[in-house]
Amino acid sequence: MGLFGGKKPEQEAEDLYLSGDYDALFDLIFRKAIQSRKMKKDVAVSYLKKVLANRESARAYYILSLLTIPDKSGLEYAKKAFEMEPASEDYALNLAMYYSEGMRDVDSSMKVYEEYWKSSGDTKIGIMVAEWYVKRDVKRAGEIAAEILKKEPKNRKAAKIVKTSEKAISSGEVPCPNCGTLLSRDATVCYSCGLDIQRWKEKHAK
Ligand SMILES: [Zn+2]
Repeated sequence: MGLFGGKKPEQEAEDLYLSGDYDALFDLIFRKAIQSRKMKKDVAVSYLKKVLANRESARAYYILSLLTIPDKSGLEYAKKAFEMEPASEDYALNLAMYYSEGMRDVDSSMKVYEEYWKSSGDTKIGIMVAEWYVKRDVKRAGEIAAEILKKEPKNRKAAKIVKTSEKAISSGEVPCPNCGTLLSRDATVCYSCGLDIQRWKEKHAK
């Protein structure tokens, strides 16, 4: 019971919806349906869908995706939010989480982080993406790291990735997708960790 007699969250949501104050409605739903679970999920979902029928909103898609975890339909909402605002850390993390935890699709989740890095310039995320690329596309890893170095010339991790990339390109070697050891381009098995390169390539070919 609140200080003023305490309206039920459902009633409060109805009032905010009717008044057209959607931002306040989203705040309420976030607090009551996600943080404190004092509003029923299906009620929260129905208000968000009603708003979205009138107006696109990245925040509404985002909250909807959080409410529908671990349901895979939430992936579409997470994608929408991220498409509308690719520089938002919340939206990027949410979408990447759907890919990596829900779908065990780390490749797609890294693509999300790459887009987020491009639009936000977040160096920490850029390094994470570059490190991931070292094992898959060492040239791309070098490009990303070089761009980070332009912005932060003292970034040691970026400098190391640029070096690895240059070395791999000049020697014609490619890093093992599992452990990063440089191997000849036609190697079928990694001599360091034993990864079956051929099978890995087949699995990751798109
Ligand atoms: Zn290896």
